Amino acid sequence: MTASRVLVLNSGSSSVKYQLLDMRDGSRLAAGLVERIGEETSRLKHSPLAAGGESRETTGPIADHDAALKAVARELSRDGLGLDSPELAAIGHRVVHGGKRFTEPTVVDDAVLAEIERLIPVAPLHNPANLTGIRTARALRPDLPQVAVFDTAFHTTMPEAAARYAIDVETADRHRIRRYGFHGTSHAYVSRETARLLGRAPQDVNVIVLHLGNGASASAVRGGRCVDTSMGLTPLEGLVMGTRSGDVDPAVIFHLTRVGGMSTDEIDTLLNKKSGLVGLCGDNDMREIRRRIDEGVEGDEDAARAKLAFDIYIHRLRKYIGAYYAVLGTVDAVVFTAGVGENAAPVRESAIAGLEALGLAVDPGLNAARSAGPRLISPEGARVAVAVVPTDEELEIANQTYALVGGDAAERAGQDDGEGAA
Ligand code: AMP
Repeated sequence: MTASRVLVLNSGSSSVKYQLLDMRDGSRLAAGLVERIGEETSRLKHSPLAAGGESRETTGPIADHDAALKAVARELSRDGLGLDSPELAAIGHRVVHGGKRFTEPTVVDDAVLAEIERLIPVAPLHNPANLTGIRTARALRPDLPQVAVFDTAFHTTMPEAAARYAIDVETADRHRIRRYGFHGTSHAYVSRETARLLGRAPQDVNVIVLHLGNGASASAVRGGRCVDTSMGLTPLEGLVMGTRSGDVDPAVIFHLTRVGGMSTDEIDTLLNKKSGLVGLCGDNDMREIRRRIDEGVEGDEDAARAKLAFDIYIHRLRKYIGAYYAVLGTVDAVVFTAGVGENAAPVRESAIAGLEALGLAVDPGLNAARSAGPRLISPEGARVAVAVVPTDEELEIANQTYALVGGDAAERAGQDDGEGAA
Protein backbone atom coordinates (compact mmCIF):
# COMPACT_ATOMS: atom_id res chain seq x y z
CA MET A 1 0.00 0.00 0.00
CA THR A 2 1.21 3.52 -0.69
CA ALA A 3 -0.07 5.20 2.46
CA SER A 4 2.61 4.16 4.92
CA ARG A 5 2.82 7.03 7.38
CA VAL A 6 1.17 7.30 10.78
CA LEU A 7 0.97 10.47 12.86
CA VAL A 8 0.95 9.75 16.60
CA LEU A 9 -0.64 12.40 18.84
CA ASN A 10 -0.43 12.60 22.61
CA SER A 11 -2.71 15.45 23.67
CA GLY A 12 -2.46 16.83 27.18
CA SER A 13 -4.53 19.62 28.69
CA SER A 14 -2.12 22.32 27.51
CA SER A 15 0.25 20.39 25.27
CA VAL A 16 0.43 18.18 22.20
CA LYS A 17 3.33 15.80 21.57
CA TYR A 18 3.59 14.29 18.12
CA GLN A 19 5.65 11.96 15.98
CA LEU A 20 5.29 11.11 12.31
CA LEU A 21 6.49 7.59 11.51
CA ASP A 22 7.13 5.72 8.30
CA MET A 23 5.69 2.26 8.95
CA ARG A 24 7.77 0.58 6.26
CA ASP A 25 10.72 0.65 8.65
CA GLY A 26 9.41 2.36 11.82
CA SER A 27 11.64 5.37 11.20
CA ARG A 28 10.78 8.81 12.59
CA LEU A 29 10.17 11.40 9.91
CA ALA A 30 9.42 14.22 12.35
CA ALA A 31 8.71 14.81 16.03
CA GLY A 32 7.75 17.74 18.16
CA LEU A 33 5.87 19.32 21.00
CA VAL A 34 3.48 22.22 21.46
CA GLU A 35 3.47 23.51 25.04
CA ARG A 36 1.53 26.09 27.04
CA ILE A 37 -1.46 26.04 24.69
CA GLY A 38 -3.87 28.85 25.61
CA GLU A 39 -1.13 31.11 26.99
CA GLU A 40 0.66 34.08 25.47
CA THR A 41 3.94 32.20 25.54
CA SER A 42 2.97 28.99 23.74
CA ARG A 43 5.97 27.19 22.28
CA LEU A 44 6.24 24.84 19.32
CA LYS A 45 9.39 22.77 18.92
CA HIS A 46 9.61 20.79 15.71
CA SER A 47 12.36 18.39 14.66
CA PRO A 48 12.46 17.31 11.01
CA LEU A 49 14.21 14.04 11.71
CA ALA A 50 14.11 12.48 8.24
CA ALA A 51 15.48 15.56 6.54
CA GLY A 52 18.22 15.71 9.18
CA GLY A 53 17.52 19.42 9.49
CA GLU A 54 17.83 21.64 12.53
CA SER A 55 15.01 21.75 15.06
CA ARG A 56 12.80 24.81 14.74
CA GLU A 57 11.27 26.63 17.70
CA THR A 58 8.55 29.26 17.63
CA THR A 59 6.96 31.08 20.54
CA GLY A 60 3.78 33.14 20.59
CA PRO A 61 0.14 32.66 21.48
CA ILE A 62 -1.50 29.42 20.34
CA ALA A 63 -5.09 29.74 21.49
CA ASP A 64 -6.31 26.14 21.54
CA HIS A 65 -5.73 22.59 20.32
CA ASP A 66 -7.17 23.44 16.91
CA ALA A 67 -4.60 26.22 16.44
CA ALA A 68 -1.87 23.92 17.83
CA LEU A 69 -2.60 21.15 15.36
CA LYS A 70 -2.79 23.61 12.47
CA ALA A 71 0.61 24.97 13.51
CA VAL A 72 2.00 21.41 13.59
CA ALA A 73 0.51 20.77 10.13
CA ARG A 74 2.26 23.91 8.82
CA GLU A 75 5.60 22.77 10.22
CA LEU A 76 5.16 19.31 8.69
CA SER A 77 4.26 20.90 5.33
CA ARG A 78 7.50 22.88 5.36
CA ASP A 79 9.32 19.53 5.35
CA GLY A 80 7.09 18.12 2.60
CA LEU A 81 5.26 15.94 5.14
CA GLY A 82 1.92 17.77 5.27
CA LEU A 83 -1.17 16.21 6.80
CA ASP A 84 -2.88 16.48 3.40
CA SER A 85 -0.37 13.97 1.97
CA PRO A 86 -1.88 10.80 0.47
CA GLU A 87 0.94 8.94 2.22
CA LEU A 88 -0.68 9.51 5.61
CA ALA A 89 -2.55 6.29 6.48
CA ALA A 90 -4.01 7.24 9.86
CA ILE A 91 -3.64 9.28 13.02
CA GLY A 92 -3.07 7.31 16.24
CA HIS A 93 -4.11 8.95 19.51
CA ARG A 94 -2.94 8.07 22.97
CA VAL A 95 -6.01 7.86 25.21
CA VAL A 96 -5.32 7.37 28.89
CA HIS A 97 -8.51 5.70 30.07
CA GLY A 98 -10.48 3.13 28.11
CA GLY A 99 -12.31 1.66 31.10
CA LYS A 100 -13.39 -1.99 30.83
CA ARG A 101 -14.90 -1.49 27.41
CA PHE A 102 -11.84 -0.74 25.26
CA THR A 103 -9.67 -3.83 25.27
CA GLU A 104 -8.01 -3.05 21.95
CA PRO A 105 -7.10 -0.08 19.77
CA THR A 106 -10.27 1.24 18.19
CA VAL A 107 -11.13 3.27 15.11
CA VAL A 108 -12.87 6.40 16.35
CA ASP A 109 -16.48 7.14 15.45
CA ASP A 110 -19.15 9.14 17.26
CA ALA A 111 -20.06 6.24 19.57
CA VAL A 112 -16.40 5.75 20.56
CA LEU A 113 -16.05 9.45 21.30
CA ALA A 114 -19.18 9.31 23.47
CA GLU A 115 -17.79 6.35 25.41
CA ILE A 116 -14.44 8.06 26.01
CA GLU A 117 -16.43 11.05 27.24
CA ARG A 118 -18.46 8.81 29.56
CA LEU A 119 -15.17 7.76 31.18
CA ILE A 120 -14.22 11.32 32.16
CA PRO A 121 -15.32 10.84 35.81
CA VAL A 122 -12.63 8.14 36.23
CA ALA A 123 -9.98 10.08 34.26
CA PRO A 124 -10.78 13.76 34.81
CA LEU A 125 -7.21 14.92 34.22
CA HIS A 126 -6.53 13.09 30.97
CA ASN A 127 -9.54 12.01 28.92
CA PRO A 128 -10.89 15.54 28.24
CA ALA A 129 -7.58 16.58 26.66
CA ASN A 130 -7.30 13.32 24.72
CA LEU A 131 -10.81 13.89 23.39
CA THR A 132 -10.00 17.43 22.30
CA GLY A 133 -7.00 16.10 20.38
CA ILE A 134 -9.09 13.50 18.57
CA ARG A 135 -11.90 15.93 17.74
CA THR A 136 -9.45 18.49 16.39
CA ALA A 137 -7.59 15.97 14.24
CA ARG A 138 -10.87 14.60 12.97
CA ALA A 139 -12.03 18.06 11.91
CA LEU A 140 -8.73 18.63 10.12
CA ARG A 141 -8.78 15.32 8.21
CA PRO A 142 -12.35 13.92 8.39
CA ASP A 143 -11.57 11.39 5.66
CA LEU A 144 -8.69 9.79 7.59
CA PRO A 145 -9.05 6.95 10.13
CA GLN A 146 -8.40 8.18 13.66
CA VAL A 147 -7.41 5.39 16.03
CA ALA A 148 -7.61 5.54 19.83
CA VAL A 149 -4.92 3.50 21.61
CA PHE A 150 -5.69 3.13 25.31
CA ASP A 151 -3.20 3.11 28.20
CA THR A 152 -5.51 0.74 30.06
CA ALA A 153 -6.13 -1.77 27.24
CA PHE A 154 -3.23 -4.14 27.92
CA HIS A 155 -4.42 -4.56 31.51
CA THR A 156 -8.00 -5.56 30.66
CA THR A 157 -6.84 -9.21 30.69
CA MET A 158 -6.29 -9.04 34.47
CA PRO A 159 -8.40 -11.61 36.31
CA GLU A 160 -11.08 -10.29 38.64
CA ALA A 161 -8.99 -11.36 41.63
CA ALA A 162 -6.35 -8.82 40.61
CA ALA A 163 -8.65 -6.16 39.17
CA ARG A 164 -11.08 -5.81 42.08
CA TYR A 165 -10.55 -3.95 45.33
CA ALA A 166 -11.92 -5.70 48.41
CA ILE A 167 -14.65 -3.13 48.97
CA ASP A 168 -18.42 -3.42 48.84
CA VAL A 169 -19.16 -4.81 45.38
CA GLU A 170 -22.27 -2.73 44.74
CA THR A 171 -20.59 0.53 45.67
CA ALA A 172 -17.57 -0.37 43.54
CA ASP A 173 -19.70 -1.24 40.51
CA ARG A 174 -21.92 1.82 40.84
CA HIS A 175 -18.88 4.09 40.68
CA ARG A 176 -16.83 1.90 38.32
CA ILE A 177 -14.15 1.50 40.97
CA ARG A 178 -11.65 -1.18 40.00
CA ARG A 179 -7.99 -1.52 39.15
CA TYR A 180 -7.55 -0.44 35.53
CA GLY A 181 -3.75 -0.01 35.34
CA PHE A 182 -1.89 2.43 33.11
CA HIS A 183 1.29 2.61 30.97
CA GLY A 184 -0.25 -0.37 29.14
CA THR A 185 1.20 0.56 25.76
CA SER A 186 4.67 0.49 27.29
CA HIS A 187 4.10 -2.78 29.18
CA ALA A 188 2.78 -4.40 25.99
CA TYR A 189 5.70 -3.24 23.88
CA VAL A 190 8.40 -3.99 26.43
CA SER A 191 7.11 -7.45 27.38
CA ARG A 192 6.98 -8.42 23.70
CA GLU A 193 10.43 -6.99 22.98
CA THR A 194 11.77 -8.92 25.98
CA ALA A 195 10.46 -12.17 24.49
CA ARG A 196 12.16 -11.23 21.26
CA LEU A 197 15.43 -10.56 23.14
CA LEU A 198 15.17 -14.04 24.66
CA GLY A 199 14.52 -15.49 21.20
CA ARG A 200 11.15 -16.84 22.28
CA ALA A 201 7.48 -16.27 21.42
CA PRO A 202 5.62 -13.86 23.74
CA GLN A 203 3.08 -16.57 24.59
CA ASP A 204 5.89 -18.76 25.93
CA VAL A 205 7.39 -16.38 28.49
CA ASN A 206 6.47 -14.88 31.86
CA VAL A 207 7.85 -11.40 32.41
CA ILE A 208 7.90 -8.85 35.22
CA VAL A 209 8.02 -5.40 33.60
CA LEU A 210 9.27 -2.48 35.68
CA HIS A 211 8.37 0.79 33.94
CA LEU A 212 10.31 3.32 36.02
CA GLY A 213 9.92 6.84 34.69
CA ASN A 214 8.64 9.93 36.44
CA GLY A 215 5.46 7.86 36.72
CA ALA A 216 6.25 4.25 37.56
CA SER A 217 4.42 0.95 37.37
CA ALA A 218 5.13 -2.77 37.49
CA SER A 219 3.26 -5.52 35.71
CA ALA A 220 3.16 -9.29 35.71
CA VAL A 221 2.77 -10.63 32.18
CA ARG A 222 2.00 -14.32 31.64
CA GLY A 223 2.38 -15.56 28.08
CA GLY A 224 1.89 -12.08 26.63
CA ARG A 225 -1.16 -11.24 28.75
CA CYS A 226 -1.16 -8.94 31.76
CA VAL A 227 -2.26 -10.69 34.95
CA ASP A 228 -1.50 -7.92 37.45
CA THR A 229 -0.25 -4.35 37.49
CA SER A 230 0.62 -1.89 40.22
CA MET A 231 -1.44 1.14 39.18
CA GLY A 232 -5.13 1.00 39.98
CA LEU A 233 -8.23 3.15 39.58
CA THR A 234 -5.81 5.98 38.86
CA PRO A 235 -2.03 6.16 38.29
CA LEU A 236 -1.54 6.93 42.01
CA GLU A 237 -1.35 3.36 43.30
CA GLY A 238 1.74 1.18 43.49
CA LEU A 239 5.41 2.10 43.25
CA VAL A 240 7.06 5.21 44.67
CA MET A 241 7.17 7.71 41.77
CA GLY A 242 8.72 11.09 41.02
CA THR A 243 5.92 13.06 42.68
CA ARG A 244 3.29 10.39 43.56
CA SER A 245 3.21 8.44 46.79
CA GLY A 246 2.18 5.09 45.34
CA ASP A 247 0.63 2.76 47.96
CA VAL A 248 -0.50 4.34 51.21
CA ASP A 249 -3.00 3.16 53.82
CA PRO A 250 -6.29 4.80 52.69
CA ALA A 251 -6.77 5.83 56.32
CA VAL A 252 -3.97 8.37 55.80
CA ILE A 253 -6.58 10.37 53.87
CA PHE A 254 -9.16 10.22 56.69
CA HIS A 255 -6.46 11.24 59.14
CA LEU A 256 -5.38 14.21 57.03
CA THR A 257 -9.02 15.28 56.71
CA ARG A 258 -10.01 14.86 60.36
CA VAL A 259 -6.79 15.67 62.16
CA GLY A 260 -4.88 17.65 59.54
CA GLY A 261 -7.88 19.74 58.44
CA MET A 262 -6.99 19.30 54.78
CA SER A 263 -9.51 19.39 51.94
CA THR A 264 -9.91 16.58 49.40
CA ASP A 265 -8.26 18.71 46.71
CA GLU A 266 -5.32 19.49 49.00
CA ILE A 267 -4.80 15.80 49.74
CA ASP A 268 -5.12 14.99 46.04
CA THR A 269 -2.35 17.49 45.30
CA LEU A 270 -0.25 16.24 48.21
CA LEU A 271 -0.36 12.59 47.09
CA ASN A 272 -0.07 13.22 43.34
CA LYS A 273 2.29 16.19 43.14
CA LYS A 274 4.14 16.62 46.43
CA SER A 275 4.88 13.05 47.46
CA GLY A 276 7.06 10.25 46.11
CA LEU A 277 10.74 11.15 45.66
CA VAL A 278 10.06 14.89 45.62
CA GLY A 279 8.14 14.71 48.89
CA LEU A 280 10.79 12.58 50.53
CA CYS A 281 13.87 14.55 49.53
CA GLY A 282 12.91 17.56 47.39
CA ASP A 283 14.14 16.06 44.10
CA ASN A 284 12.26 13.86 41.67
CA ASP A 285 15.16 13.32 39.27
CA MET A 286 17.03 10.10 40.03
CA ARG A 287 20.26 11.61 38.63
CA GLU A 288 20.15 14.38 41.21
CA ILE A 289 19.27 11.96 44.03
CA ARG A 290 22.23 9.73 43.16
CA ARG A 291 24.53 12.77 42.94
CA ARG A 292 23.47 13.89 46.43
CA ILE A 293 24.10 10.39 47.80
CA ASP A 294 27.40 9.85 45.98
CA GLU A 295 28.85 13.27 46.81
CA GLY A 296 27.57 13.36 50.40
CA VAL A 297 29.88 12.92 53.35
CA GLU A 298 29.25 11.35 56.76
CA GLY A 299 26.66 13.35 58.72
CA ASP A 300 25.51 15.29 55.65
CA GLU A 301 21.74 15.75 56.16
CA ASP A 302 21.07 16.47 52.50
CA ALA A 303 22.71 13.20 51.46
CA ALA A 304 20.88 11.32 54.24
CA ARG A 305 17.50 12.54 52.98
CA ALA A 306 18.36 11.55 49.43
CA LYS A 307 19.52 8.13 50.66
CA LEU A 308 16.29 7.59 52.61
CA ALA A 309 14.24 8.50 49.51
CA PHE A 310 16.31 6.07 47.42
CA ASP A 311 15.93 3.32 50.02
CA ILE A 312 12.13 3.72 50.23
CA TYR A 313 11.94 3.68 46.41
CA ILE A 314 13.98 0.47 46.24
CA HIS A 315 12.16 -1.20 49.15
CA ARG A 316 8.79 -0.75 47.40
CA LEU A 317 10.21 -1.90 44.07
CA ARG A 318 11.59 -5.10 45.62
CA LYS A 319 8.23 -5.80 47.26
CA TYR A 320 6.54 -5.67 43.86
CA ILE A 321 9.20 -7.88 42.24
CA GLY A 322 8.60 -10.46 44.98
CA ALA A 323 4.83 -10.13 44.73
CA TYR A 324 4.77 -10.57 40.97
CA TYR A 325 7.18 -13.49 41.18
CA ALA A 326 4.58 -15.17 43.39
CA VAL A 327 1.70 -14.13 41.10
CA LEU A 328 3.46 -15.67 38.09
CA GLY A 329 4.92 -18.75 39.79
CA THR A 330 7.71 -19.03 37.24
CA VAL A 331 9.49 -16.03 35.79
CA ASP A 332 11.61 -15.94 32.63
CA ALA A 333 12.67 -12.30 32.80
CA VAL A 334 12.62 -9.17 34.91
CA VAL A 335 12.92 -6.13 32.67
CA PHE A 336 13.67 -2.49 33.41
CA THR A 337 12.41 0.32 31.19
CA ALA A 338 11.66 4.10 31.00
CA GLY A 339 13.87 6.99 32.17
CA VAL A 340 15.03 5.52 35.49
CA GLY A 341 14.85 1.86 34.45
CA GLU A 342 16.89 2.39 31.29
CA ASN A 343 19.50 4.72 32.77
CA ALA A 344 19.94 4.26 36.51
CA ALA A 345 22.30 1.32 37.05
CA PRO A 346 22.27 1.73 40.87
CA VAL A 347 18.47 1.31 40.90
CA ARG A 348 18.71 -1.93 38.92
CA GLU A 349 21.54 -3.21 41.07
CA SER A 350 19.78 -2.45 44.37
CA ALA A 351 16.42 -3.79 43.18
CA ILE A 352 17.89 -7.20 42.35
CA ALA A 353 20.61 -7.46 45.03
CA GLY A 354 20.45 -10.59 47.19
CA LEU A 355 17.74 -12.32 45.14
CA GLU A 356 19.98 -15.17 43.92
CA ALA A 357 17.66 -17.69 45.59
CA LEU A 358 14.98 -16.55 43.11
CA GLY A 359 17.44 -17.05 40.24
CA LEU A 360 17.91 -13.30 39.93
CA ALA A 361 21.27 -11.56 39.64
CA VAL A 362 22.84 -8.61 37.86
CA ASP A 363 26.32 -8.69 36.29
CA PRO A 364 28.02 -5.44 37.41
CA GLY A 365 29.87 -4.93 34.12
CA LEU A 366 26.80 -5.52 31.96
CA ASN A 367 24.69 -3.37 34.27
CA ALA A 368 27.11 -0.44 34.05
CA ALA A 369 27.39 -0.60 30.24
CA ARG A 370 25.06 1.56 28.15
CA SER A 371 23.27 0.81 24.91
CA ALA A 372 20.46 2.25 22.88
CA GLY A 373 18.86 -1.15 22.27
CA PRO A 374 17.53 -4.02 24.41
CA ARG A 375 20.17 -5.95 26.37
CA LEU A 376 20.64 -8.56 29.06
CA ILE A 377 22.32 -7.53 32.32
CA SER A 378 22.11 -10.89 34.11
CA PRO A 379 25.19 -13.14 34.24
CA GLU A 380 25.71 -15.71 31.49
CA GLY A 381 23.54 -18.79 32.13
CA ALA A 382 21.30 -17.12 34.73
CA ARG A 383 18.07 -19.00 35.47
CA VAL A 384 16.01 -15.82 35.12
CA ALA A 385 17.03 -13.13 32.65
CA VAL A 386 17.35 -9.55 33.86
CA ALA A 387 17.12 -7.10 30.98
CA VAL A 388 17.00 -3.44 30.01
CA VAL A 389 14.57 -2.79 27.17
CA PRO A 390 14.00 0.82 26.08
CA THR A 391 10.32 1.55 25.79
CA ASP A 392 8.83 3.13 22.68
CA GLU A 393 5.22 4.06 23.23
CA GLU A 394 4.95 6.07 20.02
CA LEU A 395 6.15 3.16 17.88
CA GLU A 396 3.70 0.85 19.66
CA ILE A 397 0.81 3.28 19.11
CA ALA A 398 1.82 3.66 15.45
CA ASN A 399 2.09 -0.12 14.99
CA GLN A 400 -1.30 -0.76 16.55
CA THR A 401 -2.85 2.05 14.53
CA TYR A 402 -1.34 0.87 11.27
CA ALA A 403 -2.35 -2.74 11.89
CA LEU A 404 -5.93 -1.68 12.51
CA VAL A 405 -6.29 0.38 9.33
CA GLY A 406 -4.99 -2.38 7.13
CA GLY A 407 -1.26 -1.85 7.13
CA ASP A 408 0.47 -5.03 6.08
CA ALA A 409 1.56 -6.85 9.26
CA ALA A 410 4.79 -7.90 7.58
CA GLU A 411 5.54 -4.25 6.92
CA ARG A 412 5.06 -3.25 10.52
CA ALA A 413 8.22 -2.20 12.19
CA GLY A 414 9.56 -3.57 15.45
CA GLN A 415 7.19 -6.56 15.56
CA ASP A 416 7.30 -10.07 14.30
CA ASP A 417 4.37 -11.77 15.95
CA GLY A 418 1.56 -9.94 14.20
CA GLU A 419 -0.22 -9.14 17.45
CA GLY A 420 -2.02 -5.83 17.19
CA ALA A 421 -3.89 -5.79 20.48
CA ALA A 422 -2.39 -3.80 23.32
P1 AMP B 1 10.41 9.22 31.86
O1 AMP B 1 9.16 9.60 32.60
O2 AMP B 1 10.41 7.82 31.37
O3 AMP B 1 10.79 10.22 30.79
O4 AMP B 1 11.60 9.29 32.95
C1 AMP B 1 12.02 10.52 33.49
C2 AMP B 1 12.90 10.27 34.70
O5 AMP B 1 13.99 9.41 34.35
C3 AMP B 1 13.57 11.51 35.26
O6 AMP B 1 12.73 12.17 36.17
C4 AMP B 1 14.80 10.93 35.95
O7 AMP B 1 14.48 10.61 37.28
C5 AMP B 1 15.08 9.66 35.22
N1 AMP B 1 16.31 9.69 34.41
C6 AMP B 1 16.47 10.14 33.16
N2 AMP B 1 17.76 10.02 32.76
C7 AMP B 1 18.42 9.45 33.79
C8 AMP B 1 19.78 9.04 34.01
N3 AMP B 1 20.72 9.20 33.08
N4 AMP B 1 20.08 8.49 35.21
C9 AMP B 1 19.14 8.32 36.16
N5 AMP B 1 17.85 8.68 36.01
C10 AMP B 1 17.50 9.23 34.84
